[in-house]
Amino acid sequence: MRLDKYLTEMGMGSRSEVKLGIRKGFAKVNDEIVIRPEFKVSNKDFVFWKGTPVTYVEYEYIMLNKPAGVVSATEDAREKTVIELIRDRRRKDLFPVGRLDKDTEGLLLLTNDGKLAHKLLSPRHHVAKNYYARVKGIMTEEDVALFAEGLHVDEELTALPAELKILKLHPEGISEIQLKIFEGKFHQVKRMVQAVGKEVIYLKRLSMGSLVLDETLKPGEYRLLTTNELEELY
Ligand code: URA
Repeated sequence: MRLDKYLTEMGMGSRSEVKLGIRKGFAKVNDEIVIRPEFKVSNKDFVFWKGTPVTYVEYEYIMLNKPAGVVSATEDAREKTVIELIRDRRRKDLFPVGRLDKDTEGLLLLTNDGKLAHKLLSPRHHVAKNYYARVKGIMTEEDVALFAEGLHVDEELTALPAELKILKLHPEGISEIQLKIFEGKFHQVKRMVQAVGKEVIYLKRLSMGSLVLDETLKPGEYRLLTTNELEELY
């Protein structure tokens, strides 16, 4: 791989900034200063930028417990994005695998691995997503049956059969539920709950495929996926 590509992908600056820096002598490969941006490095080489070692990472996989108030995007002119929460990311090209609404919390995978993202998001694969929700209104056994049959939400959405579990009904008219869906349409959980006459007031994603939110992560916290978690996803 070219030295300028290596350093750019590892976030040392834009391609032109990196090229300029290399020409100024900021880059070393093993013990030598290299001033040619097109210089080829292999994975046996030790690369330094301004004296600090830079290790190449091809793919990065981060589990984030998304907090409410940030948007699931790579860039946004007005809102804070989930990517901005990852202060020590190695890859510049991370993106969120799918979207959670701004007010939704919970599991969000961030990666630069397009193949894995496709596998998890492709509508053909019907990857299961499990949510915990608090709902204004009392969810009923009839709702469980309707969700299991495949709920007609509106002209645009008839949901695939979904698994609704009623966890707790509070006397003040609040329900706690868990809902497993096998697709990922816009506002899907909120729309399904609304279609049976209730309203989601809190939503958190617990899992996506085999990947389960690490409950030790507080909202806004993140960690790398373990090798096991990654192998199970593939
Ligand atoms: N369904 C929703 O309504 N919102 C989300 O953020 C995720 C699923």
